[in-house]
Amino acid sequence: MKVCVVGSGYVGLVTGACLADFGMRVVGVDKDAAKVETLRRGEIPIYEPGLKTLVAKNADEGRLSFTTELGPAIEDSRAVFIAVGTPPRPDGSADLTFIREVATQIGRHLNGFKVVVTKSTVPTGTGRMVEELIREAAREAGHPVQDFAVVSNPEFLREGSAIEDFMNPDRVVIGSRDPRAIEVMLDLYAPLKNADVPFVVTGVETAELIKYASNGFLATKISFINEIAALCEALGADVEVVARGMGLDNRIGPKFLQTGPGFGGSCFPKDTRAVAQIARDLGLELRIIEAVLAVHEATQRRMVEKVDAAFGGLEGKTVALLGLAFKPNTDDMRDSPVIPIARGMLARGARIRAFDPAAMDEARSDLPELTYCASAYEAAEGADGVVIATEWNQFRSLEWGELRRTLRAPLVVDLRNLYDPQRMAA
Ligand code: NAD
Repeated sequence: MKVCVVGSGYVGLVTGACLADFGMRVVGVDKDAAKVETLRRGEIPIYEPGLKTLVAKNADEGRLSFTTELGPAIEDSRAVFIAVGTPPRPDGSADLTFIREVATQIGRHLNGFKVVVTKSTVPTGTGRMVEELIREAAREAGHPVQDFAVVSNPEFLREGSAIEDFMNPDRVVIGSRDPRAIEVMLDLYAPLKNADVPFVVTGVETAELIKYASNGFLATKISFINEIAALCEALGADVEVVARGMGLDNRIGPKFLQTGPGFGGSCFPKDTRAVAQIARDLGLELRIIEAVLAVHEATQRRMVEKVDAAFGGLEGKTVALLGLAFKPNTDDMRDSPVIPIARGMLARGARIRAFDPAAMDEARSDLPELTYCASAYEAAEGADGVVIATEWNQFRSLEWGELRRTLRAPLVVDLRNLYDPQRMAA
């Protein structure tokens, strides 16, 4: 089947490469000409383990190509995936400008039955909006308007393990009532169906909400454990053990109970704010989600206070900051909690020498005041202490003897609980 994936970012590129690997003929479209050029040269514009190899293999075997020309790509495809960004507007709601642009183009180039699949995370009702925009543009262009079906197929992949998550998902959600569209989707995902991955086939609106509700719940777990962490500190209890004791309960589960500086990345912050705004627009209040957001912001402030206290006041101090991305194995700096924490430290008069294995180029525009270093050891040179902010594996096994010699003081503030405090002290 010929497939077009619009948007070659984290989700579009992974979706395109994986569908090509399933045997589809995929053309990836992006309006960013420089990105398309990079991809055509066989380079990958983002850091995502395994993606370069998968893209190269499928491009070499003739199943994956890239273009900036959306019209011909739509005309040539049976299924059109929309995987463009849906960034937050100032009030937290999702900006659907890119989705609208693509929907209109699809209508203009409707030359036969097509399944239009929304992979981007979008508010409930977007499917209907996409349908109307396509119908309107098709009518204006004189195409038969019945020749398409809109499907919501939200994506649950995590950056850093995106290919594994796409190839081996916990579930596939397909939102459509159109039997032809469902058949096309089941064909596209046949390798997953054959591997007994559960499929949830439902209406468009329900599918759209499954994504927001899932991210809202995961963010809730993170804010919950961060609030319990503050309680543990006040009580002298060990939050790591509390989380383990909780997580062994099958009804709770161990994941997303790691305490730290809070959630980040391109999804949880934006999606929790968006779902809260969707409810507000309807005159409803999602009280748990509102609290999750408030705890999230309080957690970031608490991290700055902890660092300030540990350094005996940050004024005039130099901090070696290890980790900038919101999690390891990604260069994505969107909504990284390290940004407000670093800004908080700078506001208190600190200088920051930073190192991140992948995210430094991305970080520079958000945090131009930092001194970017080539390694953790270089960052520690002459610093008054270390702050570990992202749980990259390479930060789990640093030569602390060597760091101790370059640091002005043996001070480590471990915001990710990578180390046992007693072993670190030893
Ligand atoms: P991204 O910003 O990395 O990529 C989006 C791409 O779309 C960009 O390359 C941009 O140039 C391109 N684009 C925008 N308008 C276009 C147009 N009219 N024509 C062609 N290309 C266009 O975004 P992303 O992280 O891949 O996220 C995409 C969507 O998927 C968002 O809705 C996001 O919430 C959702 N999502 C993201 C993740 C994640 O981990 N990043 C996971 C699940 C869902």
